[in-house]
Amino acid sequence: MGVLWIVLALSCLGLTEVQSNKYEGFKIYEVQTKARTAAMDQALSELAKNESYYEVFSSGSQPARIMVHPEEQVNFVQLMDGHSLSYKVLNNNVGFTLRRQFARNRILRNRFPYTGNGRLGTERFYSHGEINQFIEDLAEEHPRRVFVKTVGKSYERRLMKTVTITNGDGRRNKNVIFVDGGFHAREWISPAAVVYLIDELVNNLADNADLLMDYDWVILPVVNPDGYEYTQLSEETRMWRKTRKPSSPDCIGTDPNRNFDFHWNEEGASEDPCDQTYAGSKAFSEPEAVVVSDLIHSYADRGKMYLTLHSYGPYILYPWGWSSDLPDTVDDLHEVAKAGFDAILEATGTLYEIGSSTNVLYVAAGASDDYAFNAGFPISFTMELPPGGTGFDPPASAIDQMVKETWVGIAAMARKVVQKYPLA
Ligand SMILES: [Zn+2]
Repeated sequence: MGVLWIVLALSCLGLTEVQSNKYEGFKIYEVQTKARTAAMDQALSELAKNESYYEVFSSGSQPARIMVHPEEQVNFVQLMDGHSLSYKVLNNNVGFTLRRQFARNRILRNRFPYTGNGRLGTERFYSHGEINQFIEDLAEEHPRRVFVKTVGKSYERRLMKTVTITNGDGRRNKNVIFVDGGFHAREWISPAAVVYLIDELVNNLADNADLLMDYDWVILPVVNPDGYEYTQLSEETRMWRKTRKPSSPDCIGTDPNRNFDFHWNEEGASEDPCDQTYAGSKAFSEPEAVVVSDLIHSYADRGKMYLTLHSYGPYILYPWGWSSDLPDTVDDLHEVAKAGFDAILEATGTLYEIGSSTNVLYVAAGASDDYAFNAGFPISFTMELPPGGTGFDPPASAIDQMVKETWVGIAAMARKVVQKYPLA
């Protein structure tokens, strides 16, 4: 991966100047990144310093998607043409798209209210409060199998709750699979996939008995509830990524997935509080990252797989993210990832890419997957779900297919883990 794309990916900016109709006239370009030259990298890297006008959504081996401010589009196109770079307009007006999505979501909320019956369908996206209520209702309905615990509070004092799912046989000290979602606020498909996973494990025990025989699943559906709720307010805030704690007099939020105390604030993280990948004022400055860290440590001795769901890729990424070095146990990591890759390919034809975070996507120190792996989880993955809509905003109509596909991959990886790491 060229330096430029790293620079662009890291500099994902706040786009904070425009306060009303924030994304009106913004375009998203998809740029083929295969045949690049050093000169082109240099030119684009200069351009990327103008952080108020560009945001790179994805990088790595996939074509880059770059959101460009209306005032900068002419320059951007000239630059692309000047370097004979092939690009296409993927979205002609992000503001319009997001407005339409919010109108649709409002209709769906009214049409599919949560009725408190321990069932959340795949018809729409749910709020953090609804997801918390859902797991509470499941625990009430299945008192011997499902356990909810409040494990902390977000900066804005939202309750962060885990749900532990067992097969109800009462045996203690089983191995553990720990799953979380919703690190990055705008990646709504992540909590949606976690909700579906919970539903499968609880309500479809017949098909998943082997995954719960010697294993308990501990799940934190929304790591960054403040950010997640903020993105649900309106189309103006839809693309928010970070937490919501002020990071400087001018800017809000830290990237919770650069805030972990393992090679913290090294490559792939920003020291600028206004940047999308701001690492925080210190390691674990964010209460949400502390909650995940505490969970990782409390399950590290029994934990066999840590899985954190993000978007978008599609990628299954394993350590390391802080360095291009590979862990000694890379063969084990790859074997489990490959099980997920194969299962998804066979089920839907979607081609995930697998490899180490740094080598497949980009260097990103201070992330939770490296932290969990270093703490003792032998398998630790970041799963980047496929893009939808402009990238981070699949429409509600895409949820069902996406979360079912994701579950196919997760179940296959879990089966491999269960087989590789039997209960001692
Ligand atoms: Zn993410």
